[in-house]
Amino acid sequence: MVATRSGPRPAGSALGVDIGGTNIKWVHRARAAVVEQGTLPTPAGGPVQIVAAIAELAVARTVEAIGAALPGHLSPDMRSTTTIPNIDGDWQDFPLADLLERATAKPVLLMNDARAFASAELTLGSARTHTDVVFMTMGTGIGGAIALGGTVLRGPGDRVGEIGHMAAAPGGDLCGCGARGCLETVAGGRALAARWSQALASRGTGTGTGTQDRSATPEDLVRAARSGDTTALEILGTAATAVGTVLGSVLAQLGLSTVVVGGGVAPAFEVMRPAVEPALGDRRRLIGPVTILAAALGPYAGAMGAALNATAQPLAVPSARPQLSGI
Ligand SMILES: [Zn+2]
Repeated sequence: MVATRSGPRPAGSALGVDIGGTNIKWVHRARAAVVEQGTLPTPAGGPVQIVAAIAELAVARTVEAIGAALPGHLSPDMRSTTTIPNIDGDWQDFPLADLLERATAKPVLLMNDARAFASAELTLGSARTHTDVVFMTMGTGIGGAIALGGTVLRGPGDRVGEIGHMAAAPGGDLCGCGARGCLETVAGGRALAARWSQALASRGTGTGTGTQDRSATPEDLVRAARSGDTTALEILGTAATAVGTVLGSVLAQLGLSTVVVGGGVAPAFEVMRPAVEPALGDRRRLIGPVTILAAALGPYAGAMGAALNATAQPLAVPSARPQLSGI
C-alpha cells in the first residue's frame, strides 16, 4: 500500500531514487526528514549500470530500505520492469528489485514515478490538505495519478491514472505507448518541443537562443509564447484545449474537483491555463468549481515519494535474501 495520511507512517531511513532518462534524482530520508539529496547523470548502458549506481548510493549511507520510482510500467508483482520507454536499455522483464536487493541487502520497493510524485505531494506538498485529487506531471511525456480518500491508487502493476495516454486527438501522432493521438502527443514536453522546432524550421530561424544547431525545448516555446509569438501561443493553445478536455473528462468520471500539476514542463501549464479553464468549463455543471494547484515540492518530489513509500511496504525479505535487523 502507498502511505496515506491516515495509515501507518513510514518509519526509519530510506533512499529514494527517481530514475529518469537524463538524471537520477535521489533523497536520503532519516525518519521524517530529508537529510541529503542529489542528482547524478543516468548511467549509459541500461538497467544493469543503473542498478550499480543506485547500489553505490545506498551502501554509502545508512538506509533501511530503498524506493525506486520509474517512468513506466512494472510487472503485476511490482518486482520487475516491463515498459520503460524513455530510458536506454532492455527493460523488458528486468528483475530490478531482486538485483538491487542482492546488491545492497536492503528491501526494495518499485513504483511508477507519477504515483511517487503524487504520494509526496499528497503527504507533504500542495495536496496535503486534500484527500481526493487528480495529479498531472508534465515532463517529456505526461504522467498522472489519482488519490481517493487520502490514498494514491495504484492497482495491479501500478497503472492507475495514465492521463497522458488518454485519447486527445484520435488518429493523431504515434505515441510511445503504441497508440495514436494520446494527450502526451499533443501536450507533452517532447511534442511541444517538436512542434516549436517545426515552426522555427518553417520560418528558417533557429531556436531564438542564438544556438542555431540546438533542438528547441519546451522552455524555448514557453519563452516565445510569453513574449507574444502567435505561433507559440497557438501551439500551447491547442495543447491547453487537449489538457482541459482530458482533465474535464477525468474529473467528471471520478467526481473530483482538485488537480495538482507538476513536473519539469509545468511552466508551460501556466501559459496554457487561460485556455484550459474554458475546456474544463464545458463540464462545469457536472464537476463544479475546479481547484488547480501547482505542485509544491519541486524536482525531488518523485524521489521523496519513493523514499516515503519504501518503508511503508512490508519489510521482511524472502529467506533466500539477506535478513535485515532492527526493522
Ligand atoms: Zn500513449
